[in-house]
Amino acid sequence: MTRRIDRETCRDGGFVEQNAVKRYAVLSMDVEDWYHLDYFSGLKTDRSSSMLDGLDVYLSLLERHSIRTTFFVLGELAERLGGTLRAMAAAGHEIASHGVAHKRPLKMTVGEFADDLRQSKATLEHVVQRSVEGFRAPCFSLDRTRLEEVWRAGYTYDSSRIDFTGHPLYGSLDVKDFDVVSPGHSMRHGFHEFEVSTLPVLGKRLPVSGGGYLRIAPWAIMRPLIQAYVRGSPLYVLYIHPFELSPCPLPAAAAKLSYPQRLRFGLGRAGVAKKLDRLVRLLKDDGFSFVTFRDLCEQSVVKA
Ligand SMILES: [Zn+2]
Repeated sequence: MTRRIDRETCRDGGFVEQNAVKRYAVLSMDVEDWYHLDYFSGLKTDRSSSMLDGLDVYLSLLERHSIRTTFFVLGELAERLGGTLRAMAAAGHEIASHGVAHKRPLKMTVGEFADDLRQSKATLEHVVQRSVEGFRAPCFSLDRTRLEEVWRAGYTYDSSRIDFTGHPLYGSLDVKDFDVVSPGHSMRHGFHEFEVSTLPVLGKRLPVSGGGYLRIAPWAIMRPLIQAYVRGSPLYVLYIHPFELSPCPLPAAAAKLSYPQRLRFGLGRAGVAKKLDRLVRLLKDDGFSFVTFRDLCEQSVVKA
């Protein structure tokens, strides 16, 4: 249980201490293009089209709601998006790393991964001219050995843990020896781990954290699941991608995918922005504050 001590001014000018659970939401985005998705990694594809315009759609939505958040950006997109990234940082968003080219860490040797971590951090810092503190592994593909490398490369936090065994690409990240700051946020020797939100249902865990799940499932199904999660949670973590919000048609390369892959890639994009609007309202109504992961690292949280 996490508790912070808030001070509230009394009518007589004095202070009373009031225990209140602060609730935070991080509506993060993983900034990558459609061809970075694992479906396309073994295919020869024409990469001349882009769906990165979904980033602008998301920035407009966040601006409408006065929300600042964390963007995990691929190093190889940093130069191309340079002006946009600098404007985002100047507007209060956090730029963090999603690796260089979306290669899954568990498919790299530890040495290759360490190079990838350092290269993406240095590239983003050079382009944005701000320190890069956070990392999220492509496809949440991380193990404990590689998590240690994230720390060694100079990052302050990682957000690659998801407690979900139903996806074949996700890694299994053991942080049992970390101190629990709050459910979904743990810490060891000053290094933070943030877990993407899942909800226990009938002995299994369901992702309630965005991505394909928010996009494909009807809002009538997602809303009660998200409500059930946030009812008892001080931290909600969302992730979303530009292609999910892009108004562009699917690239021709989508025809090379299997039918289930094509469905998972393309289904539900038209309704995502509206669902995100509803999600933001739901979180606001429940008293959530919208922050970046860096904000959460910088806050001193009292462990009860
Ligand atoms: Zn990704």
